[in-house]
Amino acid sequence: MSDPEISRFTEEEARTELDRLAGLLTRANENYHLKDAPEISDAEYDRLKRRNAELEALFPHLKRGDSPSEQVGAKPSDAFSKVTHAVPMLSLGNAFSDEDVWDFLQRNRRYLGLANDAQMAVSAEPKIDGLSLSLRYINGALEQAATRGDGAVGENVTANARTIKDIPPALSGAPDVLEVRGEVYMSHEDFADLNERQQATGGKLFANPRNAAAGSLRQLDAEITRTRPLRFFAYAWGELSAPLAETQTGAIKRLKDLGFRTNPLTHLCETADELIAHYQRIEAQRATLGYDIDGVVYKVDDLALQERLGFRSTTPRWAVAHKFPAELAWTRLEAIDIQVGRTGALSPVARLAPVTVGGVVVSNATLHNEDYIAGRDSKGQPIRDGKDIRAGDWVQVYRAGDVIPKIADVDLSQRPDSAETFEFPHRCPECGSAAVRDEGDAVRRCTGGLICPAQAVEKLKHFVSRSAFDIEGLGARQVEQFYRDGWITEPADIFRLREKYGSGVRQLRNREGWGEKSAGNLFDAIDEKRTIPLARLIFSLGIRYVGEAASGLVALHYGTWEALLEGVTSAADLSGPAWEDLNSVDGIGAVMAQSLITAFNQPSERASIERLAGQLVILPAERVGTADSPVTGKTVVFTGTLETMTRAEAKVRAEKLGAKVSGSVSAKTDILVAGPGAGSKATKANALGVTVLDEEAWLRLIGDR
Ligand code: AMP
Ligand code: ZN
Repeated sequence: MSDPEISRFTEEEARTELDRLAGLLTRANENYHLKDAPEISDAEYDRLKRRNAELEALFPHLKRGDSPSEQVGAKPSDAFSKVTHAVPMLSLGNAFSDEDVWDFLQRNRRYLGLANDAQMAVSAEPKIDGLSLSLRYINGALEQAATRGDGAVGENVTANARTIKDIPPALSGAPDVLEVRGEVYMSHEDFADLNERQQATGGKLFANPRNAAAGSLRQLDAEITRTRPLRFFAYAWGELSAPLAETQTGAIKRLKDLGFRTNPLTHLCETADELIAHYQRIEAQRATLGYDIDGVVYKVDDLALQERLGFRSTTPRWAVAHKFPAELAWTRLEAIDIQVGRTGALSPVARLAPVTVGGVVVSNATLHNEDYIAGRDSKGQPIRDGKDIRAGDWVQVYRAGDVIPKIADVDLSQRPDSAETFEFPHRCPECGSAAVRDEGDAVRRCTGGLICPAQAVEKLKHFVSRSAFDIEGLGARQVEQFYRDGWITEPADIFRLREKYGSGVRQLRNREGWGEKSAGNLFDAIDEKRTIPLARLIFSLGIRYVGEAASGLVALHYGTWEALLEGVTSAADLSGPAWEDLNSVDGIGAVMAQSLITAFNQPSERASIERLAGQLVILPAERVGTADSPVTGKTVVFTGTLETMTRAEAKVRAEKLGAKVSGSVSAKTDILVAGPGAGSKATKANALGVTVLDEEAWLRLIGDR
């Protein structure tokens, strides 16, 4: 398996390569574990790790102090409080071939001083592709849940874990101290639903079920986790006050009896052949399991032997993960098309000669942006060794989970002579307007605004989506049809449909899919949505960077539609108080503020928005669940270091109680909560006579102490 190129490396080359790999792997770990947004495939990650391990084996003295081979996951995020694991949560060594499986068994026998043909039962079970979670039960009650983090210290996600149905809040007959470990994951079906919902609401789309599971579990607001269909399989344990059983399979049985879900494909094997046969059985079922797995885990069954075998730095000797080969395939890239989105983004799409990748026929793949096609990342560093992608190329396609497929590699030896460098268009293919790329933006955007049919249709689709106006009977398909027929060109037109085409119920009726009744129902459904809360209206406008959360913040800040119009109009003067006021809203950055201002001040867009507003009754923003809170309606600023919670948590809690949380102190501030290290904000608050509380006093005020 060793790469001949590596074995010829000079020391200098090896050192440079180890540095490069450490950088790539650190970044990959952060993207994967902290941001839940991987940039490279699992197969590529494994390849880099293997390359790193090979180099370290050849040049042991060059191994870095912070070697990627000694790291598990990534440091826990600062957004959560931290939990030091009583027993570390480790990673697993990998096996990629049958030979590696033989090796694993022989190595262990040798370590234990057993004969080469000695009996050694080993369990085999699917390796669930989710994220691991440790659940600490004391006297049968769930006390704490923590992610793996870097293996030693994880993130406290107790409130989140409590919302997962597969996790029992209480156990009977459990040891006094019991840490149950297992995998949080999302089924394919739930993942598809979630992404559909996210799409409809303009939320972030998840790349695959694993990222969706990680992103859903690691929410600061557990109520969001509650809405996400997470599942849990138990397969291991940490600290115990009494043993669970004498064998791995016995312990799993015990966990099952205690009320946990355990994987039904767990099987006890006696030989390498049996392990490999079970591996093949699981692989054959992989596509129909309904959730992602990326291999099969083998564990020495006898817990006394596990104990003797113990651990290497980050992996147990007594277990190994036999990975499935990557879901890869080669095919011809026939063309590169450009799609135009709601905010005008030009997204390149690869049209492929259909090919089966991991059991699914693939004919499109995302190409991200022009840099990606050219073979550079956002910082100008080469990707794919700098190889660009051209129509006509022979490309390697991969899927990670259920995601839109991506292009992993290009085979230059198969490039036809006629293949030309892809010229990323500088004009919008839909409307011909200039497509420009702002400094620091990876994406080129059509500047056509409302005259661009692609943007207009996407905006309309967003406008009627579930978190926006959510008009029954008016979905993406209907909107497209109405747009094509020229009945609806902007949101306001939706509310004029009855008036303009009222008699046209008859016209509608004659069309495909519309009867007199359904047309009437549609008009009624539209009328029903004429009254709309301010936050929803803002979100519906589909302003770039202004998602659901930001819309809520903006709505709460201004309160009414009139105040909002007044505020964002005046804020166009970037040196005036209205701009400062808008920027003082915690959670609204300058980029978002600028985007709002552009949307409201560009004359034709403003006119379109006013036409829409003229059709609506807009409800002022109300704070929820606030009636009896002592901080309802108060403007609060947090500064300095907080001890019992993160800043983000503090903000969410204050807002739940009806307070308005701002990022800067002004005469409007009611309370400054100042932790140690508070600086200029505290000085300013004192000067303005604003009430200043320490964290303890704040907690008392909100009834938390
Ligand atoms: P890795 O981090 O890829 O080296 O693999 C170790 C991880 O595999 C663990 O932290 C678990 O999250 C995960 N895993 C999934 N299924 C299993 C299983 N059946 N047994 C042990 N670990 C598992
Ligand atoms: Zn355009």
